[in-house]
Amino acid sequence: MIRVGILGNGQLGQMLEYSIVDLRDIRVSMYDLRAHSPSLLESFIASVDILSYETENIAADIVEQLEPHAAKLRPGLNALKIFQNRLAEKQALRDAGIATADFCAVNSLDDVHAAIETLGLPIVMKTTTEGYDGKGQFVLRSADDAEPAWQAIGGRELIAEAFVPFQRETSVIACRAENGQMVIWPITENVHHEGILRYSLYPAPALSQAKAELAERYIRQLAESLDYVGTITLELFETAEGLVANEVAPRVHNSGHWSIEGAATSQFRNHMLAISGRALGNTIANYPAVAMLNVIGDETPAEAAETVSNAHRHSYGKEARPARKLGHVTVVADSEATRDATITQLSDLLPETVWPPASKGD
Ligand code: AMP
Repeated sequence: MIRVGILGNGQLGQMLEYSIVDLRDIRVSMYDLRAHSPSLLESFIASVDILSYETENIAADIVEQLEPHAAKLRPGLNALKIFQNRLAEKQALRDAGIATADFCAVNSLDDVHAAIETLGLPIVMKTTTEGYDGKGQFVLRSADDAEPAWQAIGGRELIAEAFVPFQRETSVIACRAENGQMVIWPITENVHHEGILRYSLYPAPALSQAKAELAERYIRQLAESLDYVGTITLELFETAEGLVANEVAPRVHNSGHWSIEGAATSQFRNHMLAISGRALGNTIANYPAVAMLNVIGDETPAEAAETVSNAHRHSYGKEARPARKLGHVTVVADSEATRDATITQLSDLLPETVWPPASKGD
């Protein structure tokens, strides 16, 4: 029996727990970060053998409290600290030999002007911590944008990145075991709208073999460079020339939810196996084509997805709120054409999907 504690009790924690319900020798408990108190956390840590986290957005005082218990943490404290901070993250990517946009730190209005000098325009400026789903970002298109950008998100540490003229966004997810065994799921194309992931497609349409191999090489280098244990996600921009890393999640990721029905072993189950010191399962796709559509804002219409063949609805049991992810629907299919036809059929029930692709875009 191994006792695993997960920091965070949202849908990712729930899906981690659910992924191993058949393995009664792994017991999962979750810690509600919103109800945090130092003494609650201390007793939670004492009650488990292994600690993991479903989010890297963990407050500095909690990270400090984890320090003396670093030996229990999988993935390690190093990964948590690096991927909490966009500057440390970009540097770690570079150190692992992975292409990124050029970037620099910005701590003042003068630095914004200096960044425009060094990186050229346009620039994407982001807060180094706590930004997600496009929050805490500002795109500078002319030097006149420097002051409004600093007004909007400045006064704290920022990162300035050269704008990447990407054709689309993709991600690659891998899991690494304690003994170095690594498995990688097939790459997906991810479509965002207004900063929120709408859907992911496997296979990523017309992805070249060379780019697929490059993505696998990148994530392998990244996980090995950090002696990483668990599931890790690398988001990549596809450009005409190749792949450029955008960001890393030291955890299971929304773009990997398709793997529950769509792959031999899901991103959740392999994470649990890895952090429990076990061997990892095969990540081969179970079907020729799979899609994952997020249910956003209102899940009532999505209930009817149950009646669509080859669609699997998941509900996270969350209160409805505009722009909130409430669940997802996985589509499995015998071809990309059937998959896309099923997405079309579902798009009436899932108006937030922003499908068909011709009308997509931010
Ligand atoms: P992030 O929170 O870093 O994932 O950024 C949110 C979104 O902003 C990404 O999904 C991209 O669509 C866009 N974005 C972020 N960084 C860049 C960049 N350097 N160049 C172009 N677009 C970007």
